[in-house]
Amino acid sequence: ELHVQDVITWMNKTNERLQSNKEYLTSLDQAVGDGDHGINMARGFNEVVQKIDGADYETVSDALKDVAMTLMSKVGGAAGPLYGTAFLKLSTSLKGKDSVDQESFKSGLEEALAGMKQRGKSDEGEKTLVDVWSPVIETFTNSFNPEDLVQTAQTAMEKTKDMKATKGRASYLGDRSIGHLDPGSVSSFYLFESLAETVK
Ligand code: ADP
Ligand code: MG
Ligand code: MG
Repeated sequence: ELHVQDVITWMNKTNERLQSNKEYLTSLDQAVGDGDHGINMARGFNEVVQKIDGADYETVSDALKDVAMTLMSKVGGAAGPLYGTAFLKLSTSLKGKDSVDQESFKSGLEEALAGMKQRGKSDEGEKTLVDVWSPVIETFTNSFNPEDLVQTAQTAMEKTKDMKATKGRASYLGDRSIGHLDPGSVSSFYLFESLAETVK
């Protein structure tokens, strides 16, 4: 079961990883994009933590809504609206629930992914964060375990290296996008690694 405090812990852990890997994410985005992914994510999640840490929320859905709103308003580029949409869909999906169990969290993530795909007009196999979210969601089964979640997220993130980008800035490079990790997939890996650490 996921509680308000878990959302706050999850966001704090994500923020820590993003701050310490800000330069790394930027270098990944320099190779295939415009070099701002580290800055975008570090700024956005710093704002998220400022907003929600210490705040008082009735429900998980309320906390996630603030995460979404903050990301949408503070993160520029493609990533802000995409992550913002994901958290908003997750929040909406969990609205009115007294407790957030495995099953409702999984369907919330499914709606989040659907929202991102719609927003980015993207699908699996296009070398975007969708390629991490999609397999990760499948690990939220009855036999869920955090190590499995991390392993799946890491493998998926690494697989983006050999893909050719057909969405976002990296798609301008065509075949030359092959051989580089997708920055958004790496930030999504941090998000899910932080989630695994929170729920374990
Ligand atoms: P920008 O490309 O606008 O500078 P960021 O650098 O912050 O934005 O984010 C880039 C990341 O966003 C990419 O690595 C990719 O994972 C994701 N992304 C970009 N465009 C799309 C899209 N159309 N659909 C899904 N994800 C996308
Ligand atoms: Mg960029
Ligand atoms: Mg940009």
